[in-house]
Amino acid sequence: MSGSLTIVGLGPGTPDWITPAAQTALDAATDLVGYGPYLDRIPEREGRTKHASDNRVEVERAGHALALAAEGKRVAVVSGGDPGVFAMAAAVFEALEAGPEAWRAIPVTVEPGITAMLAAAARAGAPLGGDFCAISLSDNLKPWEVVTARLAAVLAADLVICLYNPISKARPWQLGKALELACQHRDAATPVLFARAVGRPDEALRILTLAEAAAQAGTADMATLVMIGASSTRLIARESAAPYVYTPRSVASSPCVTSQGRT
Ligand code: SAH
Repeated sequence: MSGSLTIVGLGPGTPDWITPAAQTALDAATDLVGYGPYLDRIPEREGRTKHASDNRVEVERAGHALALAAEGKRVAVVSGGDPGVFAMAAAVFEALEAGPEAWRAIPVTVEPGITAMLAAAARAGAPLGGDFCAISLSDNLKPWEVVTARLAAVLAADLVICLYNPISKARPWQLGKALELACQHRDAATPVLFARAVGRPDEALRILTLAEAAAQAGTADMATLVMIGASSTRLIARESAAPYVYTPRSVASSPCVTSQGRT
């Protein structure tokens, strides 16, 4: 049997959001590699081995997966959401680049999944209808100065900003700083979404103003996707339900006018 490796996105949480192609890849695997809680979402099956690991050793885990594939196993490396978004796919290619030449003969494929920002956006309405970007607030893999420089650039450009990895026990203050920075560029009433555990039983969506979000940064957690609206992002109020949040596709004026008060 010749080995192979597929990097599979499990979506945000509910099995309904696993694509049929991702499910087929999981069903075909002899070995599953990934962070324990993601592996727990996949039922045990005779003849399929789970290799659970810690969340912090991504490149090591990727190397282990490639070594298994080189031995002839059909390996599926699993990630939450989409595996290419702040997740295992880049770690696999990093390990492949640095690893033995023979690994390059292993067929490596990526099965996409629904990433957190798309799931959160769908729950809220259409906040990503215009231009947007995604930034990981984690400074484990890049200096904090890089994060703030990028934030300042996209705030000035008036993009909707999706913040992944907003906060953790080891990184308690970064989200507050990011939202303070946003307050310097955007109106205090700009809609901000705290979308927690989307697609899981403990899902919770909060629609705040930017000023409220900055004051309540500590109420987000690792399972939260934070979305900061652009100047055109707005709410449609409803009588007995949360408002819809949307960003129109059309843009009337230059971001320099809308976000910085100059032309
Ligand atoms: N590959 C994943 C992202 C991994 S980074 C994806 O594509 O979604 C981990 C971060 O993703 C978390 O800190 C959180 O910001 C976000 N996230 C992952 N799953 C989420 C969910 N179900 N609801 C809200 N945010 C989620």
